[in-house]
Amino acid sequence: MASEHVSPLSESNSPAIDPLSEPYNPLAGIDVSLLRTRASAYLQADEMALLESAMRFSAEAHAGQFRSSGEPYVSHPIAVTEMLAEWHLDHQALIAAMLHDVVEDTAITKQAIAEAFGRVAADLVDGVSKLDKIEAHSQEEAQAENFRKMFLAMARDVRVILIKLADRIHNMRTLAAVRPQKQRRIARETLEIYAPIANRLGLNNVFCELQELSFRHLHPLRYEVLTKAIRAARGNRREIVGKLLVTIQERLPQWQIEADVWGREKHIFSIYQKMVDKRLSFSQVLDIYGFRIVVKDVPTCYLALGALHELYKPVPGKFKDYIAIPKANGYQSLHTTLIGPYGMPVEIQIRTSEMHHVAESGVASHWLYKDSAERLSDLEQRTHSWLQSLIELQSASGDSTEFLEHVKIDLFPGDVFVFSPKGKIFSLPRGASAVDFAYAVHTDIGNRCVSCKINGDLMPLRTELKNGDQVEIITAAHANPNANWLTYVRTGKARAEIRHFLKTSQQDESIALGERLLGQALRGHGLTLSTLPRQVWDKFLREVGSQEKQEIFTDIGLGKRLPAVVAKRLALVVEALGDEYLQGRAIKPKTAGAIQISGGEGMAVQLARCCHPIPGDPIVGLLRKGQGMEVHLSDCPNLARYRADRERWVDVEWEANNDRMFDVDIRVIAEHQRGMLAKIAAVISENQANIQHVSMDTESSVHSQTYFTLQVTDRQHLAQVMRAIRRVPQVLRITRLKANEQK
Ligand code: MN
Repeated sequence: MASEHVSPLSESNSPAIDPLSEPYNPLAGIDVSLLRTRASAYLQADEMALLESAMRFSAEAHAGQFRSSGEPYVSHPIAVTEMLAEWHLDHQALIAAMLHDVVEDTAITKQAIAEAFGRVAADLVDGVSKLDKIEAHSQEEAQAENFRKMFLAMARDVRVILIKLADRIHNMRTLAAVRPQKQRRIARETLEIYAPIANRLGLNNVFCELQELSFRHLHPLRYEVLTKAIRAARGNRREIVGKLLVTIQERLPQWQIEADVWGREKHIFSIYQKMVDKRLSFSQVLDIYGFRIVVKDVPTCYLALGALHELYKPVPGKFKDYIAIPKANGYQSLHTTLIGPYGMPVEIQIRTSEMHHVAESGVASHWLYKDSAERLSDLEQRTHSWLQSLIELQSASGDSTEFLEHVKIDLFPGDVFVFSPKGKIFSLPRGASAVDFAYAVHTDIGNRCVSCKINGDLMPLRTELKNGDQVEIITAAHANPNANWLTYVRTGKARAEIRHFLKTSQQDESIALGERLLGQALRGHGLTLSTLPRQVWDKFLREVGSQEKQEIFTDIGLGKRLPAVVAKRLALVVEALGDEYLQGRAIKPKTAGAIQISGGEGMAVQLARCCHPIPGDPIVGLLRKGQGMEVHLSDCPNLARYRADRERWVDVEWEANNDRMFDVDIRVIAEHQRGMLAKIAAVISENQANIQHVSMDTESSVHSQTYFTLQVTDRQHLAQVMRAIRRVPQVLRITRLKANEQK
């Protein structure tokens, strides 16, 4: 490979140029002959010219950069592109491979690549660079599966994955040049992430090479010992394997079967894995011989199977028909194990040559065998049906461009993968918001979340998350879930947790409110809740067909029963039973008195959205059926509708020493001027008020109307903020908005 090539220019940092003789050639001294030979074998002349120009472009961009091995950096993209040319990938993929490190490592932009080589190549380079970024996060072992999925989901175009895999193979082949600690880290990552991706895409050769190289760098000693042992053992067994091979090769033609048969050598890593997983000794693993038989069509596969089962007895339960039921990555073959001479097991794989191509090269076989002499349509169909099983394509087509369109479909269309600040990966359904993420992290995080940072920027909780986002949830000790979240959460967990919270907290709050309301109403009858004897309650509950006091409180709190009505009926029960039941605990009837509210009661007491009352305002409570109590300004025009319904009205007053913040709407009319909004916003925050929402109405070119929803502690605070705004010279008028005023 190119990596073994030693550059004659290694002693100087830049190519030696003689300005008088030849024009400057950035590729001078770099061996590109293999790449040229491979690419020109199947690319058109114009595609080849573009690739040549990408080679020069890349060499120039990386000029002065070197690999850890000391080679000029461009030797790396050349080696990567050579691999892709071996797979016969299209010219755009080859160009992107040449440029795959340019955006990350040099000053060249995606835009510049698009201008020079077109949008498709630029998008591919961009795709590879994005994958490089997710690599930067540290990975726990348990996260590997999620990481692989995210990797595949983010790539979108299978060519991006192929470039990335070729990149990784070359880096693994040249890993000896980097520090031992880094070697192990990269080897482990390759084993956990890249090798399984190659396997998932059916790229068997890539899969095996990545495993071998990883194993070698992760466990150099074990690798060496096993390699020596295998070499010795294979030498001893060569004879017996040779005899078996001949026997099979002679038997098949007797059945009129034309076949290629060869012995199959197990890879070192798979031998090691088998020893570890199945706790087998070295000799137990190596005693299994493998043969592969490739025939022309499917019926012949089954015929060959019959022929071999006649030759040697099959091991029961070992036969597997992956032709009828292919593996998830498209692999097809018949597998059987025979009891060979001296009772030794012989593993056989039987397949057609098309199946063999797919087994070796997976998704790459689409490009690799596209223009070979073999029955094209049949192969296209095969790669297609394989891809169909892989990514659940809706429809198949023989057309190559459409094929690529289909491959661009997400391999995991339903999921997005996002990071926690510590680099942990979470898989969420597409469309999920930061609230879904918060609940995925922990129920308490969800219940306490107030806002979030996405990739470092403060964002609303409802923001839809994208693949690769890093999400940080900001919580507050007294925050609670909001019923509004239910309109956009996507995960069942978030939905269930929010519902659960709202239900239980509403119930608790309703009970507490109902108790207070009833206590207040009872005072008008000279009774108190705490002194009402049990007999009174029992009789009352029987009358109304209820089991418990709590139920009555809840109903009152929810506005389903009116406190005045319940109090009146309780008073009647007391009267019927006679005063002696009160045992002198009656009090002097007095006016009901107001219920104190803080605005923080939760679901049971809601501050009306129409008039936004704040502490200091005169207020009135209104019991809404099934919705608890709504608190309005006492002069809120919306109350007019309930004038006739006096029983639903409750006297309320603000609790003292309230340190909550309350929403209030104001309108500011000011001269239309740049920077005016910023000035007002600064004044608001200088006065310790928060801005919840801003909207502008710029119909007139002279004046602007700005609507703010502010958060203030009370009426006094609001007055202070409004005075401060009024002092801004451009401000003409400022008004607090109450119900029904235009917003
Ligand atoms: Mn690279």
